Amino acid sequence: MFSYRHAFHAGNHADVLKHMVLLASARHLAQKETGLLYIDTHGGAGLYRLDGDFARTSGEAEEGFLQLRRQLGEQALAPALDDYLSVINQFSQGHARQIYPGSPFLLHHLMRPQDRLRLFELHPTDIKSLKANMAQLDGASLVNVAHEDGFEALKKLLPPPSRRALVLCDPSYELKDDYQRVIEAMEDALKRFATGTYLVWYPLIPRAQAHDLPKRLKTLADRVKRPWLNATLTVKSSKVLRDDKGELQRPGLPASGMLVINPPYTLAGLLEPALAQVSQCLAQNRHAGFAVETSPG
Ligand code: SAM
Repeated sequence: MFSYRHAFHAGNHADVLKHMVLLASARHLAQKETGLLYIDTHGGAGLYRLDGDFARTSGEAEEGFLQLRRQLGEQALAPALDDYLSVINQFSQGHARQIYPGSPFLLHHLMRPQDRLRLFELHPTDIKSLKANMAQLDGASLVNVAHEDGFEALKKLLPPPSRRALVLCDPSYELKDDYQRVIEAMEDALKRFATGTYLVWYPLIPRAQAHDLPKRLKTLADRVKRPWLNATLTVKSSKVLRDDKGELQRPGLPASGMLVINPPYTLAGLLEPALAQVSQCLAQNRHAGFAVETSPG
């Protein structure tokens, strides 16, 4: 059932988009003193090696985070991109290894003593890694890691006692059901806690469910009169092409999006210049680009 391992994809263009949006959103929410509940429904292993076998086999980080770091290292950067690169780089400082932090480590990095972090993961191997990786960190008592279905677990946690929460919903979509489960989870979450900040990652691939997902999330938010933001990053075309030998080349993931319900009001302004730099740097062909769209009004 679980063939997806995030270790193959850590640091790819989808992680760049997702983690930049996550950091910018969480930083904004953390400006208020009141404690925040961070929930990561699909945590993965937490920490990855970009110089290890998984990342080297896929080569995805090479065309993602590592390319940004190589090419943009010395340039003046948009603040959200600058923050993303400097936070990720901190994890490798003083190590011979090239480390990439997943969303659990990024959220932990931003935590204050008044905040709490709840992490969920179902893969039998990745949950062990996630638990072991999180156990090394300070403030372990503020973090709870569970081998549970993240969609189901969300229901028990909302509304949070502090009435402030950021939820990252980042499924692998290896099960077709995941698209419908995201919609149901967000619909339920908005009923329980309409003012939470919800971040949903989704792939932009030629499949009807994937295309419909952002539309359906926007409709859900509109129905309860909550604002939304949709940011997409495209690095290449989704067309299946032929190589020099005439063999069909599967394109891999061409693009992805982050749909944020109740985004910080600063988010669109932060993402536009950052994604302009990212999409220019990670473009694999002329189909590359980005978009930041917000709810009307
Ligand atoms: N959020 C992580 C990050 O940004 O570093 C990456 C998560 S990865 C895209 C998705 C993870 O969800 C996989 O590790 C997979 O095993 C796990 N998973 C799949 N279905 C799940 C479910 N129903 N509940 C919790 N975890 C699940």
